[in-house]
Amino acid sequence: MNNTSYQACPECDLLIDLVQPEIGEKIHCPRCGLLLLRPRKQSIERTFALSIAGLILFVPANFLPMVGITLLGKANSGILMSGVISLFNENMWPVSIVVFLASILFPLLHISLSLLISGHLYFNRYNRNLVSWMRWMHHLDEWVMLEVYMLSIIVACVKLMSISPLILGWGLYAFITLIFITALLTSSLDKELFWQHIEQLSKDNKHAS
Ligand SMILES: [Zn+2]
Repeated sequence: MNNTSYQACPECDLLIDLVQPEIGEKIHCPRCGLLLLRPRKQSIERTFALSIAGLILFVPANFLPMVGITLLGKANSGILMSGVISLFNENMWPVSIVVFLASILFPLLHISLSLLISGHLYFNRYNRNLVSWMRWMHHLDEWVMLEVYMLSIIVACVKLMSISPLILGWGLYAFITLIFITALLTSSLDKELFWQHIEQLSKDNKHAS
């Protein structure tokens, strides 16, 4: 064969016919089990970086005013949480709870979990909770609905614009960026690679103890 490259295992000197692995694949020495080719870590690195960016953005998205209007000469501005509170006060508490969970609590938990998991994998740290964190994150995936909340903000803005000119706040820009980051997070997270990595870490941990 012309396109095979033989390489000696650095540990036991066995000659191995190395095939370029797929993303997420690991090549071990068949004799001593030494890890010869590392999996591509881009997914872990990207998830780690995006989670940090998402957590940082979470602060302005939740605490800076999203929209401001001037009503009867008085300036009003709303943050994400004040929307939830006013829904609650208008006897729409089931809606306000759904909005709170889907646009504040679940996204926060989701980003925190992906930071926790990718951080452990990035630094090759084992934790016996990694498997349950992964399961929790999968469940939360279905419940993060920032886009739905975004739609209701747009509807509210269009309605308000007929009454008074709107001032778009930094909170809104942060929130839109947060939506993009959450979407990128979901697409960059290579679940297969993450599970393989967790399995490897738990094996290494068993060997070490
Ligand atoms: Zn070997």
